[in-house]
Amino acid sequence: MSEADTAVGTPAEEGARDFIREVVRADLAAGRTGTVVTRFPPEPNGYLHIGHAKSMCLNFGVAAEFGGRCHLRFDDTNPIKEEHEYIEAIQSDVRWMGFDWKTHLYFASDNFQTLYDWAEHLLREGKAYVDDLSAEEIRDHRGTLTAPGKDSPYRSRPVEENLDLFARMRSGEFPDGARVLRAKIDMASGNMNLRDPVLYRILHAAHPRTGEAWCLYPTYDFAHGQSDAIEGVTHSICTLEFEDHRPLYDWLIENLPVPSAPRQYEFARLNLSYTVLSKRRLIQLVAEGHVAGWDDPRMPTLRGLRRRGVPPAAVRDFCQRIGVTKNDTLVDMAHFEHCMRELLNKTALRRMAVLRPLKVVIENYPEGESEALEAVNNPEDPSAGTRAVPFSREIYIERDDFMEDPPKKFFRLAPGREVRLRYAYFLTCREAVKDAAGEIVELRCTYDPATRGGNAPDGRKVKATLHWVSAEQSMPAEVRLYDHLFREPVPGASGELMDDLNPESLTVLTDCRLEPALAGAAPGQPVQFERLGYFCPDPETTAERPVFNRTVALRDTWARVRGKGGGKP
Ligand code: ATP
Ligand code: MG
Repeated sequence: MSEADTAVGTPAEEGARDFIREVVRADLAAGRTGTVVTRFPPEPNGYLHIGHAKSMCLNFGVAAEFGGRCHLRFDDTNPIKEEHEYIEAIQSDVRWMGFDWKTHLYFASDNFQTLYDWAEHLLREGKAYVDDLSAEEIRDHRGTLTAPGKDSPYRSRPVEENLDLFARMRSGEFPDGARVLRAKIDMASGNMNLRDPVLYRILHAAHPRTGEAWCLYPTYDFAHGQSDAIEGVTHSICTLEFEDHRPLYDWLIENLPVPSAPRQYEFARLNLSYTVLSKRRLIQLVAEGHVAGWDDPRMPTLRGLRRRGVPPAAVRDFCQRIGVTKNDTLVDMAHFEHCMRELLNKTALRRMAVLRPLKVVIENYPEGESEALEAVNNPEDPSAGTRAVPFSREIYIERDDFMEDPPKKFFRLAPGREVRLRYAYFLTCREAVKDAAGEIVELRCTYDPATRGGNAPDGRKVKATLHWVSAEQSMPAEVRLYDHLFREPVPGASGELMDDLNPESLTVLTDCRLEPALAGAAPGQPVQFERLGYFCPDPETTAERPVFNRTVALRDTWARVRGKGGGKP
């Protein structure tokens, strides 16, 4: 991938302006920064979600825009929750988003020895100590936001004793939790993060990358900033909850023999309505079986979005539009869906599919005959050309497009009424045939052969145009319709998170019919089903049994719901 590609979504000319870019621009202008170096630093303890996409767009975007580079660094300091599976998946998701770290793939775990040496450095300088207090006692000593903490009785251990105990912690002499290493800063600090934070804990656990080499591991706080410094990161961009950690990171950088001094800047994380963006919550959704897996198309994970058919360019566009600020806000899912529609409208080929088929017999169309009608592939893109759609005596239309006794505002098909069949003919309904139970099973209709292509030579108008497929020359298919995973804009705001799950988030339709041009569509390839929405074949699709996912409907059906103030449409 070229430099230009990595800049997609954040072109410099459009001057995507935000406070981070202002800082970088000023640093470059003043010569404080030579080459801009940023990093995207996931913990490999879950799959990436659209919130991570915001961070990636910012970090990779800023680097590309200012001619610098962006590293992919795994902050893999917690062996308990981390797995190889996540490391692989995260890399493929970052690539899917269109970003390229080139040779700059790093792991905090590669720095374990350096971090250990630096911890010893702090011990020698009298700026850290081994504490024998239990986790609970440490918590009790920490004080509160209004009351200062209390010094640990082990705080003034002599340097030699500290070094000896730390070495024995490393050699495996003590069980988990027996001792920790703490920075010696200030137990009375107004900032809780400076009240002698823990730097190392004993953990007899194998690490996905370092195996059994270590039985004590640095905390995230001790590893993160130092890894930035080792990599030469100039602008260490993170989310707002780390603002209070910045004084600690700065203290460590000042007190350690680090090769460079990164500056940290905090921005507001993405919060998106009708979903959750916390790995813990996403893991819970999968573990409790509320979704089919990490790549369930209802999940806000990049895997889920991908399977649902959301193009990465729509994710980048969304991230660009929401911008980067310091205010925590809730972004409406409708905003994201708008970005999907806008992109797919330009790129997706149009096809006809009937999701809930109702058979139509065209009585005056010759039996056993059929013809090919020309249909436009994409009205937004003439270069996409046209295709042939087979038309015949028996077709399917959407069950919803017919009403026996239509109310005033229903303009589609009804007994005695004429409508247009897209790219085909005018069609008039003569009779609705019912089964013994009174259910409509078939419509008997006639067509006007003079209206081929969809226009009447005498200029008469119809009020509706319906999509359709030939009964015989169409393929049966399964179509999965997705809706918001949660029915509340802020799930769990007023009680149990899982109580807010949307029971109608998935509708599986097994009786759909597709026009033949959809045969062999590859998983993920976006298509517009005319009048219905954007869809793409699911990875489970086969030639015998096509399976499509709805990416997004053509219109925002929830806008009406919001307008009315609640309830499902
Ligand atoms: P979670 O809070 O879901 O456990 P995390 O923030 O711990 O996620 P990391 O793997 O540490 O996940 O995230 C990697 C990077 O992505 C970090 O820089 C983090 O700040 C950023 N990030 C995570 N969630 C969001 C979000 N919702 N919006 C913007 N950036 C995010
Ligand atoms: Mg994190």
